[in-house]
Amino acid sequence: MIPQRVKSSLRHIKKTAKYYGRERFCPVCSQYSSKFETFGNVTRSDALCIWCGALERHRLVWLFLQRKTDFLTSKQDLKMLHIAPEACFETRFRLLAGPGYLTADLFAEKVDVKMDITDIGYADETFDAIYCSHVLEHVSDDIKAMTEFRRVLNKGGWAILLVPISAAQTIEDPTITDPKERLKLFGQEDHVRSYGPDYADRLRTAGFEVNCFSPGDFLSESEIVQMGITKAAGEIYFCQHSVDQICQFKQQQEENTRLQRLVAD
Ligand SMILES: [Zn+2]
Repeated sequence: MIPQRVKSSLRHIKKTAKYYGRERFCPVCSQYSSKFETFGNVTRSDALCIWCGALERHRLVWLFLQRKTDFLTSKQDLKMLHIAPEACFETRFRLLAGPGYLTADLFAEKVDVKMDITDIGYADETFDAIYCSHVLEHVSDDIKAMTEFRRVLNKGGWAILLVPISAAQTIEDPTITDPKERLKLFGQEDHVRSYGPDYADRLRTAGFEVNCFSPGDFLSESEIVQMGITKAAGEIYFCQHSVDQICQFKQQQEENTRLQRLVAD
């Protein structure tokens, strides 16, 4: 009988051989492979990192955090709220943010706190950073949830709030509760709406200043291919309290770019 440990090693060797190559690079786990796996109910190619499970949007978020924020390099402890934590991020975020990192979910068991995001049981301006991805499309009163996120976010903090954008204009109908109808209209049995590009306006309705970043804003064409940032990755909705902070953020980025160019020259 082959021991479990040996079986596991053999599986790893087989996987390494199957995906051997440098055509793709996952920035989340820093591993190369020949390809990203196909994934999804409607299957998408170039999607799943076989090493850490990161999907297109996770790789985009990681790159955004790396290139447009100091989250990956700052030594400061952060009070960070992570809703419905993804496995590929949780350990890494906890390490980066420090003891102030908090995972939350209404239903999942393995989180730090059970939380209804339309009624967050924390004081105003508790968190320096909030990350919530592909959750709001499940929430009936998404504006209330966005308003709550803004309330508990520090004045100088940021929130990355992502949803799938799949419609020309946001469509919702609270009277539709039949899972089959929801699947047909909203793309998934437990989605309560399909968002359009006007999603940013909904965030603004909740009081956020929103800056939307496309992959091309901070990645080269070859990086987009190599890191599997396909259309399914979407865009980054970076939310803060005020325009001034966005201006400061942009100025800081421009200064960083200028310094990088100087170093490169
Ligand atoms: Zn990975």
